[in-house]
Amino acid sequence: MSLRYNLFALLFAIAQTALAHTPGSPDDHDHEEELSALGNVTLDACAALGEEIQYNQNLHIGGIFILLAVSGLGVISTSMLSKLKMPMVSQLLLIFKMFGIGVLASTAWMHILPSAFEDFGNPCLDAGWQKFGVGYVGLFGLIAAFIAQQMEMLFVGRSMIKSTQDKDAVTLSPAMTIEDGAVGPHSHHTENKEMTVILLEAGIMFHSVIIGLTLGVAADDEFTSLLAAICFHQLFEGMALGVMIGALNLKRIQKVALCILYPITTPVGIAIGVGVHNAFNPNSHGLILTQGILNSLSAGILFYNTYTELMSEEISHNVAFRAYAPSFKAVCFLAMYIGAAAMAILAIWA
Ligand SMILES: [Zn+2]
Repeated sequence: MSLRYNLFALLFAIAQTALAHTPGSPDDHDHEEELSALGNVTLDACAALGEEIQYNQNLHIGGIFILLAVSGLGVISTSMLSKLKMPMVSQLLLIFKMFGIGVLASTAWMHILPSAFEDFGNPCLDAGWQKFGVGYVGLFGLIAAFIAQQMEMLFVGRSMIKSTQDKDAVTLSPAMTIEDGAVGPHSHHTENKEMTVILLEAGIMFHSVIIGLTLGVAADDEFTSLLAAICFHQLFEGMALGVMIGALNLKRIQKVALCILYPITTPVGIAIGVGVHNAFNPNSHGLILTQGILNSLSAGILFYNTYTELMSEEISHNVAFRAYAPSFKAVCFLAMYIGAAAMAILAIWA
């Protein structure tokens, strides 16, 4: 982090030198030498560091299993909650869902978006990419949001035709289709939700792999605090995903697949980190660009789905939610803010 700030300070110094440069002044030559010297420093700063760090491989491998267990616990605990058939459960689930929406919104704003800006603002990026710089965050995010919508719509279109074929023996009046939530618009909406959750999971997974990689290459002295932060990170995000997966109308095997996919992403990132830690260069152009593009795509997916599908569908335009007592609504919003605050605090570390 401090290295990057130093690089920014260095670039600022270069810019100042260039601005102070007046053509024909007697010390022209000195300025050029200064500039080329500064240029070399920047190039070296982006090369592999090559310095020895304290690195206990067994400790890092232990982290793989700890995160597998914690992420699994998060996603399974809340997805199982929906199986309980008790009157209080639906309200409890709603509180958990609100917590999850807060977690996802905060992840998009506080984790993924700042990381994407940091990547595309990195002075070690190739000059071609630096020309448009952080503008690429907006570009890739915008494209991802369009693709997310397109995928949801294409998916719904196909299932709509399928569900019409399945139900062609039943004749429905238009009024019935609207009133009976089990058929017509509702079934299309459910399909839509399935795609939403799959896309949300994909968006979170990109970030999970990147933080896993960070942990995998971390030196021993920062490993423990980073591991603790990432455990809470994965636990909260797992709970957010679990409550959404539990509410889906999917086959058991499909739900299990969604529940298994999430907990393995961070361990995969750590394993890659452990494998490459000797040759790892956090300032390599390829790595920064890959991270920048993945973070920007994740941001686009998470913003689109969090606001259009969750905030809008589940809260603002949800008739059932509006009917709740103000005190229960207050508890729901409090849960959302607590989820958001928890992830905002964790953004300090990972
Ligand atoms: Zn994070």
